[in-house]
Amino acid sequence: MKSEQSAAEACCLENAPYDSSVRPPLLCDLQLSIFENAGRAIILTDPAGLITYFNRAAQQMLGYTPDEVVGRVTPLLFHLADEISACARSFTCDPDCEPPIGFGVFVARLKLQIRDEADWTYVRKDGSHLPVSLAVSVLRDAKGGVQGYLGIASDISERRRMEQDLRIAAIAFESQAAIMVTDVNQRILRVNQAFTKLTGYSAEEALGQTPGMLKSGRQDADFYAAMWRSLGQCGHWQGEIWNRRKNGEIFPEWLTISGVRDARGRVSHYVSTFSDISNLKVAESEIHHLAFYDPLTAMPNRRLLLNRLDQACVSSKRSGQFGALLIIDIDHFKTLNDTLGHDVGDHLLVEVAKRLVGCIREGDTAARQGGDEFVVMLEELGTDPSSASVQAEIVAEKIRVELARPYLLNGDTEYFRSASIGISLFFGQEKSIDILLKQADISLYKAKDAGRNAIRFFDNAMQTALDERAAMEAGLRRALVKDEFVLFVQPQVDAMRRLIGAEALLRWQPAGRAMVAPNDFIPLAEETGLIVPIGLWVLDQACAELRRWADNPSTKNLFLSVNVSARQFRQADFVAQVVDALARHGTNPKLLKLELTESLLLDNVEEVVAKMLALREFGVRFSLDDFGTGYASLSYLKRFPFEQLKIDRSFIRDICINPDDAAIVRAIIAMGNTLRLNVVAEGVEENSQHAYLVKHCCCLFQGYLFGRPMSFEDFQISLDSCPLPGLETADNWVI
Ligand code: C2E
Ligand code: MG
Ligand code: MG
Repeated sequence: MKSEQSAAEACCLENAPYDSSVRPPLLCDLQLSIFENAGRAIILTDPAGLITYFNRAAQQMLGYTPDEVVGRVTPLLFHLADEISACARSFTCDPDCEPPIGFGVFVARLKLQIRDEADWTYVRKDGSHLPVSLAVSVLRDAKGGVQGYLGIASDISERRRMEQDLRIAAIAFESQAAIMVTDVNQRILRVNQAFTKLTGYSAEEALGQTPGMLKSGRQDADFYAAMWRSLGQCGHWQGEIWNRRKNGEIFPEWLTISGVRDARGRVSHYVSTFSDISNLKVAESEIHHLAFYDPLTAMPNRRLLLNRLDQACVSSKRSGQFGALLIIDIDHFKTLNDTLGHDVGDHLLVEVAKRLVGCIREGDTAARQGGDEFVVMLEELGTDPSSASVQAEIVAEKIRVELARPYLLNGDTEYFRSASIGISLFFGQEKSIDILLKQADISLYKAKDAGRNAIRFFDNAMQTALDERAAMEAGLRRALVKDEFVLFVQPQVDAMRRLIGAEALLRWQPAGRAMVAPNDFIPLAEETGLIVPIGLWVLDQACAELRRWADNPSTKNLFLSVNVSARQFRQADFVAQVVDALARHGTNPKLLKLELTESLLLDNVEEVVAKMLALREFGVRFSLDDFGTGYASLSYLKRFPFEQLKIDRSFIRDICINPDDAAIVRAIIAMGNTLRLNVVAEGVEENSQHAYLVKHCCCLFQGYLFGRPMSFEDFQISLDSCPLPGLETADNWVI
């Protein structure tokens, strides 16, 4: 290529500048005029290849003025060097001969009698490339001598672009998706290979037919009418459609149809593209199944039930008919699961599911909520509430009887299980789904309370209880902010009736209402988690009171017991909470006692012990409250660092009249003393009880006999004025 270029440059330099104002040789006026007005680029050269003429179209095409090109050779100006060399190589037969350059290539072509146009690339003045179709002919004089050469070039960039587009379209047409082109009358004109693969029809079979050949019959006339409407309005439609293959198989496809318009804007063709979405449908339905059905029983799960319940309420509102929700729980399912294993438990659940489905009508729903709890939703039970109740009860009874039939779960052995059923009626959307489920749940608990294997309806009394509970929950949430909690205190004495300490007892005093006892709100606070902030408040108050006591000689040695709920104790930062409260008020930790209940000790033993030991390190002590009501044995208790246990007052109450209670109390005291635990008797109301307990070596007491729970102010007033009846203060009491 280097040699070609230097040759071209040499050629250019050797030639004197050409005067372009001079008429190009060989052209008469007429020819010049024709050439100047021609639409194609026309370039004339002399026999040596020097440009002698460069018409207007050539100027526009290549961006040169005649002055810039006339008298120069073409290759350096507007021929692509590598194109010349590639082409020239193919014409050079004589290896000693220099390959022709520029026009020389075409001269060579002429010599070989090749006269047709060739595609070529011109380089414009600005360096851009232009594809052209170039034809070169020899200009001869009368004697046949070569006078020069005439080159005519036309811009073929548009043709090239269209060719490119066609190539792309051809590749796109043979893509993975099936394509079908029809005329405006829906006659199939073309289909691709994917069409044949997908439908089973060859191109020959399809051409001339209409897309109706694929109809499955699954879409009705309205469907097609809507499709054509959309095509008419926006020239486009896409959606899911079921079609039929040649072998008769029906399959789902995703179809896109576009109208092709002609130059006048009229639809001339339709191009349909479609792909088989059977796999997608299968995956979709699997996902749907996983999300909405219980894998064990294949019943709708809670999520689907909630959806259906929502719809049922809407249609109940429209129809004015009642519906019913039945919650069914298998009695003692856990025992069966624990004793016979989960496989047998699963088998039972599957069997229960089958029986339930057998008890309901087609439009009703049976679902598995989770565990051994099932829900049946009955719809269209009529407009009269009492007859709706009767109908619901009939179905519930049928279910109860059906589920009580023996089950063959493990070979031939028959197992018997009963079920408890709670029912709540629903009407329109008057209650939220949450409330409906809660109501059914409450009635289920009533059925269980009634001894199981029973059916209970949700009634007004239950509703009132539910409302009260909701109101109490709302009140409790506000109580801390409104400062409605009060801490009371109840004295504890030793055998000599000397005051040794007290227990802090919480009260709730809602504005303008009677004081609420802890047994009425603590369980709800536990359930809702509100016990955590409430417990923190109690702890803080108790530490503050203990600090105040420290400044008064009559109270400085008293300890204060604080009740701690299981949920509060299980907080990860419980130890830190206690330590912080003590530090905040500068309270002596040795005077703080935390009362725990047995329920806390049943799981996560290590964690409980670790927390207790961490607090013991600080000096905080522990008392086991309500002992005797739980299941913990005294030997089990040795695992925990308790220093005190409180006998529940239910045993103390009848200690003088019930020999069984008396025996239990005596045993607890004896055992407690052996294990070096201080034993406190709670709920001592009478002197006779106190005397009996003292006689059997119980040394600590709490009860109305020594003082009722009272405010800290009253407690101080009592101590300051006259000691409480039968009460003396024990100085320097150290346990
Ligand atoms: P508890 O810890 O066993 O408290 C003793 C309960 O017995 C107190 O009931 C007290 O008033 C009552 N009592 C004491 N002596 C007698 C008596 O001679 N006769 C009768 N009939 N009752 C007596 P209260 O104050 O109603 O507290 C009930 C329960 O509420 C407490 O039982 C405790 O479990 C819980 N509780 C109280 N305050 C708190 C607290 O701040 N946090 C937590 N988590 N629970 C608390
Ligand atoms: Mg207590
Ligand atoms: Mg107690």
